Amino acid sequence: MLSHMSMAYYNTREIQGKQAHDPIFIEKMKSKSSSSSSCSSSSSSSSPSPPSSPSSSSSSSSSSSSSSSSPSSPSPRLVVCVPGPVIVGAGPSGLATAACLQLKGVPSVILERSNCIASLWQLKTYDRLRLHLPKQFCELPFMPFPNDFPTYPTKQQFIQYLEDYATKFDIRPRFNEGVASAEFDSKLGFWRVRTTGAKGGDETEYVCRWLIAATGENAEAVVPKLEGMAEFGGPIRHTSLYKSGEEFRGKKVLVVGCGNSGMEVCLDLCNHNARPSLVVRDTVHVLPREMLGKSTFGLSMLLLKWLPIRLVDRLLLVVSRLLLGNTSRLGLDRPKLGPLELKNLSGKTPVLDVGTLAKIKSGDIEVRPAIKRLKCHAIEFINGRTENFEAIVLATGYRSNVPIWLKEGDMFSKEDGLPRKPFPNGWKGECGLYAVGFTKRGILGATMDAKRIAEDIERCWKAEAKHCTPFKGSLFPLSSSSSP
Ligand SMILES: Cc1cc2nc3c(=O)[nH]c(=O)nc-3n(C[C@H](O)[C@H](O)[C@H](O)COP(=O)(O)OP(=O)(O)OC[C@H]3O[C@@H](n4cnc5c(N)ncnc54)[C@H](O)[C@@H]3O)c2cc1C
Repeated sequence: MLSHMSMAYYNTREIQGKQAHDPIFIEKMKSKSSSSSSCSSSSSSSSPSPPSSPSSSSSSSSSSSSSSSSPSSPSPRLVVCVPGPVIVGAGPSGLATAACLQLKGVPSVILERSNCIASLWQLKTYDRLRLHLPKQFCELPFMPFPNDFPTYPTKQQFIQYLEDYATKFDIRPRFNEGVASAEFDSKLGFWRVRTTGAKGGDETEYVCRWLIAATGENAEAVVPKLEGMAEFGGPIRHTSLYKSGEEFRGKKVLVVGCGNSGMEVCLDLCNHNARPSLVVRDTVHVLPREMLGKSTFGLSMLLLKWLPIRLVDRLLLVVSRLLLGNTSRLGLDRPKLGPLELKNLSGKTPVLDVGTLAKIKSGDIEVRPAIKRLKCHAIEFINGRTENFEAIVLATGYRSNVPIWLKEGDMFSKEDGLPRKPFPNGWKGECGLYAVGFTKRGILGATMDAKRIAEDIERCWKAEAKHCTPFKGSLFPLSSSSSP
């Protein structure tokens, strides 16, 4: 696609790409730039820009991009051309992809809306959280967990591992850059990615050949609309804002949602002498976290190598029954499909029990049906019973935010913000668009995506470099993913 572009353009692209990694350059540009859109190279580099290049398009952006001409999206203050891919999101998926690309000699830029890497883990998870799966299933590519980490690392250990990973691969995301929109400009043949700074100002446009969505399946909290919500007298808190049961000590708390988070929050509340009840609206598979001396997840992976999924499911359910008893008696009915088949078909993750079931058996946690409505200090359930509660914790999950910022209709579903193509084919779209970490298979799935994406982009990157042999030397000094 780029083969027709002029030599000068390649020089410009490289300079701009280098500058895109340089915060000082960006700051300089911001202070220099006027309210009208200006391309970085036109002010800082003497390289001429051909009419078809992003730099010329930025100064006449209204003619080359529908987004730029829209009154709702005024021209950005700064335009930065990135030679490699732009990755949106600095969670485990974005970091893994940047590292894989870096090892292949492809520089990338990560744009992250918050002020740190792995913001889900650092800012939106509860204190007692540990990895749900054993550490060997949560490794990012090319860096195992330290040997002295436990099988299920704590949240702090996992964050430390990710920080070390970013350091090892010299990954330096551009923080406080929330992507507000990303659109493929077919006239230009590039993606135009617009970000806004922390306070909603400082708009920047990144122009790139490849765009990698790594904003995660858990980008936005799902808060259900419950009748009478405004009337309820106590706090209503989503798990993304729940840190520990300490603030609920002695209180009667209703936890809505019986996934891994809801179950664990109930346990945490018990441990802080609160009195939790758990709303269970749906069927759920609860499995012991370990069985037959192995992690349930690891054992399942092993068995699936030899046995059909339904047989593995049956084995898991028999052992679960022996270890946990009949969960239906506790108000936790099992779905008709087995846990692995259900996960494969719907993405619904089985709950790995870390002690909550024992608390339900002992009566420390009570199970309640769906909510009908909230009242001032009470909750009415669909079975007609009304009970007093002092607080509500919503363990109602998260959703992808891709449809909000990605102006594209083919690759991602508008309904759930996930790739339309089922696993393992959802990672690649059209026009240099990729998705990492949307497989409903946790970090293991993200790692698979990251490796595939890096291989795919590397092929294209090398092919383009071959085509432009005279500039090989000047195109490739960018070895690190975001080094200045
Ligand atoms: C409580 C909990 C426990 C979990 N435990 C495990 C486990 O044990 N093992 C496992 O494999 N998985 C686990 N998961 C799943 C987990 O979410 C993922 O494995 C992992 O965090 C996914 O990484 P990610 O990078 O895809 O998404 P995220 O970690 O969500 O990172 C996405 C990043 O994108 C940023 N972002 C979002 N929108 C924008 C935007 N518009 N512009 C710029 N940046 C943006 C976010 O700020 C965030 O930093 C758990 C999830 C939760 C909620």
